[in-house]
Amino acid sequence: MTVSNDTEIADNLNRVRARVDEACHTWGRDRKDVKILAVSKTKPAHMIHAAADEGQADFGENYLQDALARIGELADRELTWHFIGAIQSNKTRDIANNFQWIHTVASEKVGRRLNDQAPAPINVLVQINVSGEGSKAGIMAAELPRLIETLLPMERLALRGLMAIPEPTANFEAQRQPFRRLRELLEGTRARFGDDLRDFDQLSMGMTADMEAAIAEGATWLRIGTAIFGPRTN
Ligand SMILES: *Cc1c(COP(=O)(O)O)cnc(C)c1O
Repeated sequence: MTVSNDTEIADNLNRVRARVDEACHTWGRDRKDVKILAVSKTKPAHMIHAAADEGQADFGENYLQDALARIGELADRELTWHFIGAIQSNKTRDIANNFQWIHTVASEKVGRRLNDQAPAPINVLVQINVSGEGSKAGIMAAELPRLIETLLPMERLALRGLMAIPEPTANFEAQRQPFRRLRELLEGTRARFGDDLRDFDQLSMGMTADMEAAIAEGATWLRIGTAIFGPRTN
């Protein structure tokens, strides 16, 4: 897939929407529960304008410096920005001030800094390492209850759910397994914390290559880059 002009962005976005519609139908998901997060990292602002013109409002970024420039360039549009990259604790102020959702919180320290620095409540997802040793990002599932307990009293953090980036695999059933574990972890955590975690209902999982498997297992935020903006060249 190559993206040569902004018409192609619109076409790509509509193809992704059709894939999501179809998978929601297949797996009995309510379409309005499955949202597309357009991952615009490294892409020029005109591509984001093209997607926004097509009705896309949520954008995901994971390189902070690069993202801040783009957020500035697009300040005249009503967009919602999601941070989906690794968080260095000395960068939390810029993240807290520019993003409305943060998908990659994985420590008490980062949570505390975001809570202190956020000008308004921010939506927080905890990143879970669902693939074990191969991946370094995120906490292990067993550490989740303790982290939730430390984050719960932080009033500017709206704890919304879980995020994971499983090891890539081409097989559909194999793709489903880590997504299923993440869903079960979300359900178990909701049951354990009850009313304290009323809005903890979001699952950020699924990318271009595995969005259908993620939908089958309950994804609410699909993080889609390549299928909308074309392959990344850097
Ligand atoms: C780049 C990126 C994506 C998008 O991946 P595609 O395969 O291009 O859809 C999703 N999530 C994260 C965390 C990413 O860094």
